[in-house]
Amino acid sequence: MPKVIPPTVETDDEYFWDGVQNDQLLIQTCADCGRFRHPPVPMCGDCHSTAWTATPSQGTGTVHSWIVSRHPTEPDADPRVVILVELDDGIRFVSNLVDVELVDVHNEMRVELCFRVIDDVKLPQFRPAPSPSRQTPSVQG
Ligand SMILES: [Zn+2]
Repeated sequence: MPKVIPPTVETDDEYFWDGVQNDQLLIQTCADCGRFRHPPVPMCGDCHSTAWTATPSQGTGTVHSWIVSRHPTEPDADPRVVILVELDDGIRFVSNLVDVELVDVHNEMRVELCFRVIDDVKLPQFRPAPSPSRQTPSVQG
């Protein structure tokens, strides 16, 4: 049995999956008022415009909430960390957190976008973001 069921691509989310193929997390953006929205919908909830474009996400954010998902009938299967990411772009996105030990997962942790191919399906995932580098402040003047 495959681990991932391939997405059923519809007219409203075709841009999203095209973006994934190009290593981009695209956010539906109102062409009239500029509001970001996710998941994709046909009309802006703010200004009721049906015109939209797609904006690449910055790919960074913080973990708003998370759970550990264990397979119901395969107890030896690796658990998955399912996260709700508060993207720095201003939307929330459900994904998986990879490359992390379970004991290190916590709310507010900084994460960054990555892409993984699982059972021939390319998916946007997140991994812990590297700590900000500590640079010696430069002295000017
Ligand atoms: Zn709008």
